Amino acid sequence: MAISVIDQRCLSGMLIFVADEIARREADLNALDAAVGDGDHGITMRIGFEAIRERLGQLDPATPIDGILRESGTAFLGATGGAIGVVMGKMLMAGGKALQGMQEIRAQEFQQLLTAMESSVAATGKVKPGDRTILDAIHAAAVAATAPGWASKDLNTIVDLAASAAQGAARTTADMLCRVGRASRLGNRVLGHPDPGAISFGIILRAMHHWITISAPGSHS
Ligand SMILES: [Mg+2]
Repeated sequence: MAISVIDQRCLSGMLIFVADEIARREADLNALDAAVGDGDHGITMRIGFEAIRERLGQLDPATPIDGILRESGTAFLGATGGAIGVVMGKMLMAGGKALQGMQEIRAQEFQQLLTAMESSVAATGKVKPGDRTILDAIHAAAVAATAPGWASKDLNTIVDLAASAAQGAARTTADMLCRVGRASRLGNRVLGHPDPGAISFGIILRAMHHWITISAPGSHS
């Protein structure tokens, strides 16, 4: 049975579940990055999420949703280097700011979260959809989550739609040339290889959805 709302305790459990999934995919993500960059994307993501896990373990269990997201962002940013560390860290902090004062994440708050994260990544990375970055996956997720008819959908469905859109968009980056960052020097050699950051975002949302589907109320205590 899937849960229908995410409260602060659920959010911590979900982020730890995502950290586990990222750690499992570290080698795949490194291999993707090696095709277009320096091969460290999986390492960076694993270190960032390990820092989130550690920070969550230190937080007061009463820390609200916005505090959890801000602390997660600060932890990721502090533990990692490079553009992706800044982008991911600020993205999580922006998500926290957008959900200030919220007690629960339902479909509407999840949309607000995605929209805020998209704005943050666009501003921090100075990128647009189509630039072959993590933003392509986030943008697709935000569009899917706010598509007409969303109000009749529950959290489980919205996160599923967002995850599928992110994963699809991430695969599509393999057909794009790179305009920004180090990989832009590779020209058409990037074709056929998806952007590792976009793939990571798809993994994060898919893991979130997986967690929602396996977490019945009361099963996480
Ligand atoms: Mg790299």
